[in-house]
Amino acid sequence: MQQMKDIVIVGGGTGGWMAAALFARVFGTQAHSITLVESEEIGTVGVGEATIPTIMQFNAILGIDEFEFVRETNATFKLGIEFIDWRQTGSSYFHPFGLFGANIKGGVGFMNYWLRWVQSGGNPDFSDFIAEAAAAREGKFARTPASPDGKLPPVNYAYQFDAATYAAYLRRYSERRGAVRREGRVVDVEQNSETGYIEAVKLADGTRVAGDFFIDCSGFRGLLIEGVFKAGFDDWSHWLPNNRAAAVPCERVEDPTPFTRSTAREAGWQWRIPLQHRTGNGYVFCDSYISEDEAAQKLLERLDGKPLADPKILRFTAGKRRLGWVKNCLAVGLSSGFLEPLESTSIHLIQLAVMKLFEFFPMREVNPVLIDMYNREMDVAYDHVRDFIIAHYKVTDREDTPFWQYCRNMSVPDSLAAKLELFRERGEARKMPGDLFSETSWFAVLYGQGLIPQSYHPIANALSEDELQLAMAGVRTAIRHRVDSLPSHADFIERCCAARPAATAA
Ligand SMILES: Cc1cc2nc3c(=O)[nH]c(=O)nc-3n(C[C@H](O)[C@H](O)[C@H](O)COP(=O)(O)OP(=O)(O)OC[C@H]3O[C@@H](n4cnc5c(N)ncnc54)[C@H](O)[C@@H]3O)c2cc1C
Repeated sequence: MQQMKDIVIVGGGTGGWMAAALFARVFGTQAHSITLVESEEIGTVGVGEATIPTIMQFNAILGIDEFEFVRETNATFKLGIEFIDWRQTGSSYFHPFGLFGANIKGGVGFMNYWLRWVQSGGNPDFSDFIAEAAAAREGKFARTPASPDGKLPPVNYAYQFDAATYAAYLRRYSERRGAVRREGRVVDVEQNSETGYIEAVKLADGTRVAGDFFIDCSGFRGLLIEGVFKAGFDDWSHWLPNNRAAAVPCERVEDPTPFTRSTAREAGWQWRIPLQHRTGNGYVFCDSYISEDEAAQKLLERLDGKPLADPKILRFTAGKRRLGWVKNCLAVGLSSGFLEPLESTSIHLIQLAVMKLFEFFPMREVNPVLIDMYNREMDVAYDHVRDFIIAHYKVTDREDTPFWQYCRNMSVPDSLAAKLELFRERGEARKMPGDLFSETSWFAVLYGQGLIPQSYHPIANALSEDELQLAMAGVRTAIRHRVDSLPSHADFIERCCAARPAATAA
C-alpha cells in the first residue's frame, strides 16, 4: 500500500492556513509536500474573530508562544460571552468558559447544590460562583494556575483576534516550515477516470497542481466537495433562520472587555468583539424580517465608536455538507458547513476536522471505513453545536417581533427537545459524547435564557442545610479571592503582550 505524500489545500482563508500550519507541524515536509492554492482576486470571508478555549490545544500543538501570538494578531483575551436582551429586553447573562463552582462532594455537578441553595433563598445570579464570569464583569484577566487546594482550575479562556492578521500569522508559520503557497484561481479539476479521485487542480494561468489528497478550504462555494463530488447539503435554516450578516469594524472607545458581547435585536443579534486596535461588530439577521440595507443602517447606529469602513454584507445558509469527506477530498471550514457565529464555533470545527483527519489519516488508496467513521463523528459534533445554538433562540420569553415569535414557536430537533425536557425537570445538563459544550455551558445558557429547573439531582440533598450554606460560602470566597488577585485586562495586555505599532496599523 502506498503512503499518502502530496497534500494540496485549496483556499487560503483561516481554514486553509490552519490546515497548512497543522500539517506542516505534525507531518513536516520530509515525507509530505504541502501546497496551498489561493486566489487573492477571490479573497477570503475576512471575518471570524472570536474563539473558544479549544484553540489553546491548537496553539499548543503548533508550539506557539502565546504573547507573541497575541501581539501579532492584535488579540485580546476572552472569558466568555455576555448575552444581552436574549431572554427578554432588559435581561442579561454571561456564558463563561470556566467551571461552575467547585467539586463539593463528588457524584453530581455543583449546579445541583446551587439550585437547591437558590430554591432555599440564595441569590439566583450565578456569576459569583464562576471565576471567569466574575472576572469578566469586573474587566479583569490574568493567566492563573490551579488554586493551591486544587479546588479551582486555572482560568479558562480563549482569544478575540483580527482575522486578517491571524491568517497572515499562520501563513508565515506554515511557509517557514516548508508549506508552499501558489497564487491562482482554480478553474478545472482532473479526476481519475476509474476511481474518481482528484488527481490535480488546474489554475487559470494553465499551471497544474497535482496531489494525493485534497483539502477543500474554498469557503462557502465548496469548490471540490460540492463542485466535483456533489456531497449535498443539510439545510438547517428552519431551525436557524438567520442567513445574512452585516459586518463593520469601529474605533475602540474604551479598554477592551475580556469577553464578546451578543445583543439580541429585532431580527437577529449583534456581535461586539473588542480587539487591541479596534472593535469588530456585526448584525446577524434573517432577510425575511429585515432588509440588508436596514440591518446595515441599524448596525451603524448602534456602534460604540466611529465606523472604520462601510458595512460588508455576507450571505449564508445554516447547515452542513452531507459528506465532509469523499474519496481523496476533505472539506474544512466554510466548505464543510456553517453555523452562525453565536458561540464562535467555526474555527473550532476547522481545528476538529483537521485533527480528526490526522487520526484517520489514510493510505493513498483511502479505506472507505475511515471515511464513514470520520463523517459520522463530524456529524455528531455538528449536531451538538447546532442544538446548542438553536437553544438560544427557542428558550426565550421574547415574542416582541415576528422574528422572535417564529423562533419561540418553532419545533426543534428531538435531541434538543429531550435535553430541554430533562433540564426543565431537574437541571440536568449532561455533556453527551462528542458534545463540545460542557455542563456549565449548557447550564449557563439554558438558565440564562429563562429555563428555570423545577428541581435538582436528589444527591444534592445529601448535605445538611448548614453544610450547604458553608459549602456555598467557601466556594464564593475562593472565587472572590481569585478575582481580587487579578489585574485589569487592559493592564495585563499592556504589561505582557501589547501589539506592536505595525500590527496595530494592519
Ligand atoms: C458573519 C460571520 C462571522 C463569523 N464569526 C466567527 C467567529 O467569531 N468565530 C469563528 O470561529 N468563526 C466565525 N466565522 C466563521 C469563520 O469566518 C470561518 O470559519 C473562517 O474564516 C474560515 O473560512 P474559510 O477559510 O473556510 O473560507 P474563506 O475565508 O472564504 O476562504 C476561502 C479561500 O478559498 C479561496 N478560493 C475560493 N475559490 C477559489 C478558487 N476557485 N481558486 C483558488 N482559491 C479559491 C479564496 O481565495 C480564499 O482564500 C464567521 C463567519 C461569518 C460568515
